[in-house]
Amino acid sequence: MIIVLKKNATQKDVKLVTEKIKKMGLDTHVSKGVERTLVGAIGDESLLKEGQIKAMPIVEKVMPIMKPYKLVSREFKKQDTIVKVNGLEIGSNKLVVMAGPCAVESKEQIIDSAKTIKKAGGHILRGGAFKPRTSPYSFQGMGEEGLKLLAEAKKLTGLPVVTEVMNTSQVPLVADYADILQVGTRNMQNFDLLRAVGKVDNPVLLKRGLSATLKELLMAAEYIMAEGNHKVILCERGIRTFCSYTRNSLDLNIVPVLKKETHLPVIVDPSHGTGKYCLVNPMSKAAIACGADGLMVEMHPNPEEATSDGDQSLTPKSFTKLIEELKPVANSIGRKL
Ligand code: PEP
Ligand code: MN
Repeated sequence: MIIVLKKNATQKDVKLVTEKIKKMGLDTHVSKGVERTLVGAIGDESLLKEGQIKAMPIVEKVMPIMKPYKLVSREFKKQDTIVKVNGLEIGSNKLVVMAGPCAVESKEQIIDSAKTIKKAGGHILRGGAFKPRTSPYSFQGMGEEGLKLLAEAKKLTGLPVVTEVMNTSQVPLVADYADILQVGTRNMQNFDLLRAVGKVDNPVLLKRGLSATLKELLMAAEYIMAEGNHKVILCERGIRTFCSYTRNSLDLNIVPVLKKETHLPVIVDPSHGTGKYCLVNPMSKAAIACGADGLMVEMHPNPEEATSDGDQSLTPKSFTKLIEELKPVANSIGRKL
């Protein structure tokens, strides 16, 4: 439920309204727009005594949010959310490129990668320290050692770091090292994990589940926001279809739909979305053209030697070329890179 306050509402009025809602057993989220202040009543709406709220002199109207996702929806917040990471903005007019190897493999590999990304004009370093692998016999990541190497690469280049957190017990550790916590595809509906990352202050990159619908993705984001963390970035990374030529089918349809349905930033991962390095460049351009706020791209100093996802990783040279080629695409839609 959204409670719209009258134009002249003061801080004191807002407090009065939020306290009344809280007394009824719901949580609140205040959104201050240029014109008006909105109070969202979050939780079991059957507890809300609508008549009592409407009777408050400072309340202009009470509007139900028709969508199942509330905090996430455009109905609740009209302006785009801009997630700030170390002075960088995700979701503004300026596009953001996250790049790096699938997994952190060694000090040399991650530092090399970070230097290349920085030099080419990338903004955020990615790299898995905890890897969700299909086979238990595959390389599972370097764990905390990998997080330490990411922190070293950040210190050297100034690039903020995004890395995956696979379960609730890892949250405090990963949150200590990483600027952005990544919830991977396989965990998009791990509700305990969503709640746990909702309780920390780090922004969260939420990747779309392998077969998740738009509603399921947005409800997963709602779990995080309902715990108080509103710094959520959504990521389209391909879905399972009958098409076996590519690893997944990159569903770019969802980008403009997400931009309509939610105020959260949306990025696209064409590496996992296609599974083929030669498709990363064209699909990155397509993603930007259709309104994505940024990209997540796998890049390895030497893809043939990668422990995972070498076949979808760009070389340093092709990554540098990609950034250059994305600039005119960004400009053509009035955005910057
Ligand atoms: C990744 O980005 O490292 C990853 C494992 O991606 P996804 O969760 O999209 O498969
Ligand atoms: Mn990967």
